Amino acid sequence: MSRIAFFCIPAHGHTNPTLEVVKELIRQGHEVRYYSYECMKEKIESTGAEYISCDEYDYEQKLTPADGKRIAEDMAFAVEVLVNSTLAMDAALLEQIKQWKPDCIVADSMALWGKLIAKKLNVPFVSSTTTFAFNKQSAQVMQGSLKDLFKVILQMGKAKRHLKRLQEKGYIIKSALEIIQNDNDTNTIVYTSPEFQPCAESFSDKYAFVGPSIRPAETTFEKTREKLIYISMGTVNNDMTTFYKNCIDALASSDYQVVISVGSQVDIKLLEEYVTSSNNRAEFCILPYVDQIAVLQKADAFLTHCGMNSVSEALYFKVPLVMYPQTNEQKGVAFRVNELGAGLYLTDETKMGIQTAFHEVMQDEMYQEHAGEISDSFAKCGGSKEAVEKIIDAFA
Ligand code: UDP
Repeated sequence: MSRIAFFCIPAHGHTNPTLEVVKELIRQGHEVRYYSYECMKEKIESTGAEYISCDEYDYEQKLTPADGKRIAEDMAFAVEVLVNSTLAMDAALLEQIKQWKPDCIVADSMALWGKLIAKKLNVPFVSSTTTFAFNKQSAQVMQGSLKDLFKVILQMGKAKRHLKRLQEKGYIIKSALEIIQNDNDTNTIVYTSPEFQPCAESFSDKYAFVGPSIRPAETTFEKTREKLIYISMGTVNNDMTTFYKNCIDALASSDYQVVISVGSQVDIKLLEEYVTSSNNRAEFCILPYVDQIAVLQKADAFLTHCGMNSVSEALYFKVPLVMYPQTNEQKGVAFRVNELGAGLYLTDETKMGIQTAFHEVMQDEMYQEHAGEISDSFAKCGGSKEAVEKIIDAFA
């Protein structure tokens, strides 16, 4: 029996794909400690892993909603927050981890502290990447404009002084690039297929493209109309009341069943009143959170912010996408879906624009066919069993 320590950030999108891997490790008789946050405690413990709270040391959780948005766009700021969290964790947890003696540390690509602690303690390390794997080649394809690349490079200068704080504490880190980019020598689990990953051939065999980890549905969703539309802007930056109202306006006169997951920051009552005040044929259901897998299994189209998990889950169930990405990362995912023809961009977020996009994505069968091709590529992947092999190989 081996001991594996997991580190992740407090985001459903980054945590969910690891849960099946943790379950598989435990099923095979290994011991797992999962360093995470209160909001993830229940789902982590349900796998059988031991949950260790990192809430006190997480600077990201102390951010205002505006700073939360900034973190996705401003790399120097993201590095500052990551470094603050790492140093707080170092002071509080390093001794405990040393004593537990993990055989391997698996850390989310954003949980910089996991990677750094592994390096500092000389423990074998595996990176867990819930987005596309990132290197020079894939960055060029994804990032599109040179201007964006330039911005990242400029921000790296600013990030340097935060890296110095880490170096002073005995951490070996040379550049901010080490944070966002994995080299070809690091064992890396990527939760997608080689067919969906841009430039998959440019990554070494240290990379395992294990496919998305789709959790089973927890409930049964009842489809009441011939067509079901699902709308969600994910679990992080979803405070978009005006946009949801536009969606309601766009679909009110249709025969569709429409499920909108709006998150916890939006006033649901207000949206419900908005629905009842308009004269609509569609059947709306507006909730803070839904069993997305249960809904997607029956959906005919999905309007998404293009979080990697939401997109993978939808494509897995062959659901074509209307794409409304907000952050650079989401724009990268949308770019790839568009390239493979499984979805179309929402370029006009007015009532008319939303109506037209849904009409096109559901009329033209090509979108669903291409979604089906990506789904087939996911089905060929090794899943959580292959991820576990990668982890065991890293130290055995
Ligand atoms: N999710 C869910 N119900 C909801 C909204 C989201 O189950 O009402 C899940 C979804 O299935 C996915 C994750 O939350 O696994 C969202 O991850 P994603 O990467 O798509 O976006 P993020 O929330 O990280 O921006």
